[in-house]
Amino acid sequence: MSYGERRRRAAELAEQAGLEGLLVTPGGDLAYLTGYAPLPLERLTVLIVRPSRDPLMLVPQLECPGAAAAPGATGIELVGWLDGDDPYLAAQRFLGPGRWAVTDQTWASHVMGLQRAAGDQVFEAASEALPLLRAVKDADELAALRAAGAAADAAFSDMVVMPFEGRRESQVAADLADRLRAHGHQSADFTIVGSGPNGTSPHHEAGERVIVADDVVVLDFGGHMDGYCSDITRTVVVRGPSTEQAEVHAVVRAAQQAAFDAVAPGVACQDVDRAARAVIEEAGYGERFAHRTGHGIGLEVHEPPYIVEGNVTALQPGMTFSIEPGIYLTERFGVRIEDIVAVTADGAKRFNEAPRDLAIVG
Ligand code: ZN
Ligand code: ZN
Ligand code: ZN
Repeated sequence: MSYGERRRRAAELAEQAGLEGLLVTPGGDLAYLTGYAPLPLERLTVLIVRPSRDPLMLVPQLECPGAAAAPGATGIELVGWLDGDDPYLAAQRFLGPGRWAVTDQTWASHVMGLQRAAGDQVFEAASEALPLLRAVKDADELAALRAAGAAADAAFSDMVVMPFEGRRESQVAADLADRLRAHGHQSADFTIVGSGPNGTSPHHEAGERVIVADDVVVLDFGGHMDGYCSDITRTVVVRGPSTEQAEVHAVVRAAQQAAFDAVAPGVACQDVDRAARAVIEEAGYGERFAHRTGHGIGLEVHEPPYIVEGNVTALQPGMTFSIEPGIYLTERFGVRIEDIVAVTADGAKRFNEAPRDLAIVG
């Protein structure tokens, strides 16, 4: 889909949602709609998308050349503003009264500025007003996510032959980052290495704990490749699993499979969460799975749709998200298995195919 088509579709979605339009500041939404990806800064850059009118972008005068050179700039009227001008008053000239969606990542200073200058406008978070703006991926986006997933798989394959015992989590994390880059990532954004008790905190990063024999180790890592994100989790064990370790891992694996099997067009997001949760509850570990089953992924690592109880959004072909159930046994060990999946015409396919068994490392 071209950038122009994406903007037309965004305007249509806004109209259907009863919005006057959409205000887009630097971040995933702007990259999606224009290919322009400047750093978010204190000077206001905002793309204004309105139904039945041409899009317009208000840009600091000194950044106009960069904005004009963006891959999707054709068809966008650029309006520069100078230091000393009030960009929020300038924006007012283009905003009719009514509800406007604002990119979630817009700095508070900009939202407050828009608010201060506002006439009869109400501003709403885009993820609330237009949660599905970027949720259905086009063919190019699916290809990019598939490639990022394959690279993360390859990075994991490299890891299982590396030594774990006697090394610090931070050293293993450095290897993960190195392997992601070696397989084509431009950045490694997170490298969670949760060994033993540290694996029971789902967002534990990587610390100075030295990994020992019999540790279960959660590896959850990802980054950016050609604009799109990877995110994979595999759990390994040093030397060999105990009966309990193997059993807990088997339950998580079955839960992950059950959620995957539940994915199809028309299925509510919460039903995918319930499918995973039912397996874990059945096995008696329900209280040990205290997070949602997954999150959408694309230009950002966490984006709608969220695979969580209460989300009745119906899945559509082209949506991409993680399935990542886990079991966390306080002060002992955690197990999580995560794949990125895409909804297809009649089910789902995975973008991560690294073996899901409990890999034994040295
Ligand atoms: Zn997370
Ligand atoms: Zn993850
Ligand atoms: Zn994730």
